[in-house]
Amino acid sequence: MRRSRAFIPTAKEAPSDATLPSHRFLIRGGFINQQGAGLYNFMPLGKIVLEKIRAVVKEELDNAGCSEVQLSFVTPLGLWERSGRSEAMGKEMLRISDRHENEFVLSPTNEEAMVELVKNRVTSYKDLPLNLYQINTKFRDEARPRYGLLRGREFLMKDGYSFHSTKEDMVREFDLMEDTYKKIFNRLGLDFRVVEADSGAIGGTGSKEFHVLANSGEDTLVVCESCDYGANIETIFDDQAEIDILNEKSYEELTESKIDKRCDCGAELHFKKGIEVGHIFQLGTKYSSALEANFNDENGRSKPFEMATFGIGVSRLVAAVIEQNHDENGCIWTKTTAPYTVNILISNAKDVNQVNLGEELYEELKNLNIDVMLDDRKDRFGFKMKDAELIGFPYTVIIGKELERDIVEIYDRKTKEIIQLYPRDLLSKITELI
Ligand code: ATP
Ligand code: MG
Repeated sequence: MRRSRAFIPTAKEAPSDATLPSHRFLIRGGFINQQGAGLYNFMPLGKIVLEKIRAVVKEELDNAGCSEVQLSFVTPLGLWERSGRSEAMGKEMLRISDRHENEFVLSPTNEEAMVELVKNRVTSYKDLPLNLYQINTKFRDEARPRYGLLRGREFLMKDGYSFHSTKEDMVREFDLMEDTYKKIFNRLGLDFRVVEADSGAIGGTGSKEFHVLANSGEDTLVVCESCDYGANIETIFDDQAEIDILNEKSYEELTESKIDKRCDCGAELHFKKGIEVGHIFQLGTKYSSALEANFNDENGRSKPFEMATFGIGVSRLVAAVIEQNHDENGCIWTKTTAPYTVNILISNAKDVNQVNLGEELYEELKNLNIDVMLDDRKDRFGFKMKDAELIGFPYTVIIGKELERDIVEIYDRKTKEIIQLYPRDLLSKITELI
């Protein structure tokens, strides 16, 4: 992409309610903009990041044998009445009616709709297991939408639902999804923990959350440093008031609080703050029984499906990456999530040699399928460099005055290191770095 042609409205200031780094930098960097409370537009850079994350999620799920579908975003209220969840979802579920006064909801999650889709289409144990997912818009009328993409009202979620003939097979799939989620979050370059979780309103037993570790996280975790045990404090403390107090504490305050309990492995437990980016539940037959979704087993007996459900906060991940990777100047994207991996900065757009080298490198990198931005704007070097810092390209090739001495530079956003090299070595150095 040529920067002179791009729509990237960067800004010096962030809105006053943007207290977290991801919220500030995603708005200032021209990734997203706020449309209303908890409602965000994705501008070109934000959309590219969102699609990159979506692609990693899809690739790993498809590899694990899941199939992608897309359910309608608007679902009839009747479906929620039959499962008994209309009441339980309360005001988080937005209800609307059409011109004929039929009632609908904007889907906050899709257990019911997915069960209806499979019901009467899968009738035999021979057709199981089945794992269907979608990456689709959700709407939850959150009591306190805040922190930008971290807690929106409209957001993008990957929601998956699996169907099985036995509980053992459901647990096997649950474990497979745990492994698959670990692959996804590793590929995204995130530091995360899998913790035991409370199953909350969705119900069932056997529930794990995936948290990106970040001091600003809304959830408080207890983790062991020597084995991989971790739990959301919601599962450890019975008293909700105690949980609320711990959640309100900052990371610094928490590190001073002691945990009496020791890990089963004998080591000490520590508090951490986390951003929940994934959640997997063993549902059992809760929804299949309620909606009479049955299959015939080997002996011809009719039974409700054993089910599990698997969620990932795809748009929340965009912000979680930045919450974990930023500095005072802006975003630091991981290699897999960066909107563009390389930014070529032409220092003086009037210098023919600088322009020619920039253009040449731009074409070469495009031919190698490397995502590249060419900053060909006529602005000053300092201005363009500040922009590159804010947006957070992993590498910026600086073509400046030094070109007269046959020298160019590669700037590493994360380490802030500058490598000087001959223009002729640029291509091999960049491919080596990536
Ligand atoms: P939370 O406790 O953060 O409200 P949840 O338990 O309600 O999350 P799930 O119903 O398990 O979330 O939804 C699956 C995933 O969707 C979550 O793990 C999270 O990453 C994401 N998610 C949930 N609510 C929001 C929201 N308001 N904005 C952005 N992402 C969300
Ligand atoms: Mg919630």
